[in-house]
Amino acid sequence: MRVAVGQLWQETNTFNPTPTTRRDFEEFGVIRGSELIERMADTNELGGFIQSLRRWPETPEIVGLVRLPSWPSGTATAETFIWLRDELLAAIEAAGPCDAILLALHGALVSAGEPDVEGAVLEAVRQRIGPKIPLVATLDLHANITERMVKNADALVLYHTAPHIDVFESGQRAARILRRILIEGVRPAMAFRKLPMVAPVERANTQDPASVSHRLRKKLELLEIQPGVLAAGLATVQPWLDIPDLGSAVIIVTDNDPALSSRLADQLAANLWGSRHEYLIELMNAAEAVRLAHDLHAEGLVVLSDCADATTSGSPGDSTWLLRELIEYRWKRPVLVTLVSPEVVNECRRLGEGAIHPGPLGGVRDHRFSKPLSLETRIERLFDARFVMSGHLARNMAIDMGSSVVLSHGDVRIVVTSRSGPHFSPLLFQTAGLDAFNAGVLIAKSPCGFRASYSAHAREIKVVNAPGCSPPDFWKYEYRQIPRPLWPWDEDTTY
Ligand SMILES: [Zn+2]
Repeated sequence: MRVAVGQLWQETNTFNPTPTTRRDFEEFGVIRGSELIERMADTNELGGFIQSLRRWPETPEIVGLVRLPSWPSGTATAETFIWLRDELLAAIEAAGPCDAILLALHGALVSAGEPDVEGAVLEAVRQRIGPKIPLVATLDLHANITERMVKNADALVLYHTAPHIDVFESGQRAARILRRILIEGVRPAMAFRKLPMVAPVERANTQDPASVSHRLRKKLELLEIQPGVLAAGLATVQPWLDIPDLGSAVIIVTDNDPALSSRLADQLAANLWGSRHEYLIELMNAAEAVRLAHDLHAEGLVVLSDCADATTSGSPGDSTWLLRELIEYRWKRPVLVTLVSPEVVNECRRLGEGAIHPGPLGGVRDHRFSKPLSLETRIERLFDARFVMSGHLARNMAIDMGSSVVLSHGDVRIVVTSRSGPHFSPLLFQTAGLDAFNAGVLIAKSPCGFRASYSAHAREIKVVNAPGCSPPDFWKYEYRQIPRPLWPWDEDTTY
């Protein structure tokens, strides 16, 4: 028995003007064939697939297709989409006959001319392998699930957590379902409901017992242990996508019981719809948030989420809204903030450690929401932002944000990287020689996932409302392509 495994992973943000290209995937780490099985055996969904398959008593041969990952960023170019699809199809062709395919997808990859890249890819794969070979795929819970995805997969298995701490386990769950299909002969019946709503992500913390997401996650877990149910998932969708089919979704997969799938999907959809207002959050503007952080920081860590410039949500990562406020104060303890700027890093390498960088900083990767900041800083340290990340989004995932630098202005430390990446990660700061947990203030460019790292350490956490490519109040921005009515753009939306 031969089971093929592969991955296509990126969360797109259509407001980021920097397009995603083939080079972004290649720099992050494309891995093909048997090397994929060797190198990804303990990493993310692929690791979950591989470790689960290795435990099957039937000892299937595990065939590596291709791993195609890129950090969240702007809309992929049309050529990038063609390249991704053809890479995957070529890998399936090269693999020879297989009994089943497991794919780790994100579900919110958008390219120029194709708002549903994963739907198109699943359709192309289905055409290639025919209707009989089981095809099971995993998706992020920020996926924008489409009818085309559902039609072309036997089962879609979603992450249950945000912060995403079950990435590896989602791979295991998908592989377990595949085994039931292949060995036990179960016949998946998948029900799909699309809801005219997009949930704000800041309160979508499935680890917080007081949150709506925690309650819904428990429901999913209960559904999955119910007899006859193979998978239950809900996708509250990545909000920063201006595409025609944007919306949340519910998926139920049962063993050959379409009526049960349908009934449970209706119940789950009604639950999500009825809970939508609980996702709304009180926000502070940048000046208020930094003032509060200043008041509190002497006696513990204050984490401010710069949601609008979250690099985990595909934003450019060089917004200066918070930095501009931070430099107005004198601080008693270190303040940590990040920027993406290959130009500043190159200039600092030329000037050397100890020299003064004359500025300006940031505000060039998106001209609509942020402006460069005139600021002289001292070049504290040059370093390479390379580490292996676990926690939100990752289990043992290699991260390389390129040549980087720490700049200082009083007690404010600005970590500048050449490439985008997890700008919330304590490991990024550690690699820069800084201790995130003992800082006075930390700016996390992440809307929710950062909580997995900081909830136990922070004295206070606040989500900041600033302009940007992934703003927390997204429904106040101009979207041209989304379906209307859609909540929360339209309060009177019905379902
Ligand atoms: Zn996500």
